[in-house]
Amino acid sequence: MANDDEIRRRIRTIPDFPKPGIQFRDITTLLLDAEGLKLAVERMAETVEGPVDLVAGIEARGFLFGAALAVRLGAGMLLIRKDGKLPGATIAEDYALEYGTDRIAIHADACAPGARVLLVDDLIATGGTARAAVRLLRKAGAEVTQASFVVDLPELGGANALRGDGIAVHALVA
Ligand code: 5GP
Repeated sequence: MANDDEIRRRIRTIPDFPKPGIQFRDITTLLLDAEGLKLAVERMAETVEGPVDLVAGIEARGFLFGAALAVRLGAGMLLIRKDGKLPGATIAEDYALEYGTDRIAIHADACAPGARVLLVDDLIATGGTARAAVRLLRKAGAEVTQASFVVDLPELGGANALRGDGIAVHALVA
């Protein structure tokens, strides 16, 4: 369901944010809309294949859809945070940005080996963040085979790259 108009019309595009030339997809308008939020979570849940032990959400907007999905699926919620935010012992993974690198982390004991994990974020663009999240979860011993996003920007190639990593990728809007 990669072209869900009910979801698409509730997301606005803000030009030149956070810098000139970027068309930012603003999902706060979808979150504000009770019916839209419910629809988004239900439709993301419909694409999930098989049982899921944990939903892993990427800071910060991935937490919102991720937690709602986790409740719906009867799964736990694993937080993938910017490095330095989690209080316990962590494992981390670096990924390339346009300029420099960034680092995400999870608690080292967040998932049991073999745990079936669904990755969730609001949007996939270049895929740098989601691919680093998959590497990190796999390093922790998780079985990650699927990822769900509200928005895919296919021209940036992230979803295809993630598929190349062995992940079934679902997005409501592309
Ligand atoms: P990527 O690593 O795939 O290039 O970028 C995806 C990450 O950046 C996601 O965590 C997502 O929340 C954020 N992001 C990048 N562009 C946008 C955008 O236009 N809208 C929103 N909502 N998030 C974005």
